[in-house]
Amino acid sequence: MAIFYDAHLHLQDERLSSLLDQIVEELRRLGIKRWVVNGTCESDWPQVAKLAETYPEVMPAYGLHPWFIKKRSGHWEETLSDYLSLPGTVAVGEIGLDKWIRDHQIDDQEVVFRRQLRLAASTGLPPVIHCLQAWGRLLEVLKSEPIGDSGFLLHSFAGPIEMLDDFLELGARFSFSGYFLQERKADVVETFRRIPLDRVLIETDAPDMALPELLATHFLDQFDGKPVNHPANLIAVYEGLAKALDLPVSDLAAQVAANFDRFFSV
Ligand SMILES: [Zn+2]
Repeated sequence: MAIFYDAHLHLQDERLSSLLDQIVEELRRLGIKRWVVNGTCESDWPQVAKLAETYPEVMPAYGLHPWFIKKRSGHWEETLSDYLSLPGTVAVGEIGLDKWIRDHQIDDQEVVFRRQLRLAASTGLPPVIHCLQAWGRLLEVLKSEPIGDSGFLLHSFAGPIEMLDDFLELGARFSFSGYFLQERKADVVETFRRIPLDRVLIETDAPDMALPELLATHFLDQFDGKPVNHPANLIAVYEGLAKALDLPVSDLAAQVAANFDRFFSV
C-alpha cells in the first residue's frame, strides 16, 4: 500500500479540533502516516505543541502567519524561538507575504517574514511559505536572505509559471493542494506539470483549500457558509495530481515520500 504524507495542514484549527478523535482514527485507517501541523500565531503554538505530544504522526512547525502579525506581542520572536527549539520541530511555518488580504501592511509583513527566515537559517529548520499576490516581493526577499540546504516550501503554490525557474534555483519545493483540482484552476495544474518531480509535495491545508465536491471523499459541516476540508481528503489530492501528471498514484506517492523525508529531515 502506498504511504501518504500531508506536508501542510492545521489540525489545531477550531473547525477540526472538536472532531479530532474521529479525524485521527480515519487518517490512521487510510495509512496517512505523517501530518505537518503548522502554527500560525502565538495563541495557537501551544495547541500545536500539545498535538505533537499526543499524536506521534504530528510533525510540528511554528510560525507567525502574515494574516496575524497585527496581534503579535512584543516578545513574539523569543517565544517563537522557544517553540522552534522543542524536540521534533520540523519547520518554521507558516510564514510569508500576502497582499490579497485587505489592509495588508505589507512592509510590516516583510519585517516579520525576514526575521523568521533568519530564525529558520539559524536553527537549520526549513521555512514553509505562504504567498498570495506578492510574488515579486517574495523573490526579492528570498534572494537577499540566507536559505538553508533543505531550501524552502512554497505551500499551496499558485504563483506565476514564469517565476518557476527563479524559485527552483533558490531551492524551492512546491506543495499542491486539492483546491487546485477545480476546472478554473487548470493553470495551477499546468504549472505543476513543469515542476521537477523531486521538488513536489502534497498537502490538504485542512481545514482550508477544500477539493471540488465531486472529488472529495470526506465531508465536514460547513463553517460560516464555507466548506471545511477534512484532512482525510489527502488521498484524493494525490489521485487528482497523479492523474494530471499522468502517473500511477503509487509512483507519485513513492517520489513524494522521498521528497518529504529529505525536506523535513525525517
Ligand atoms: Zn496553511
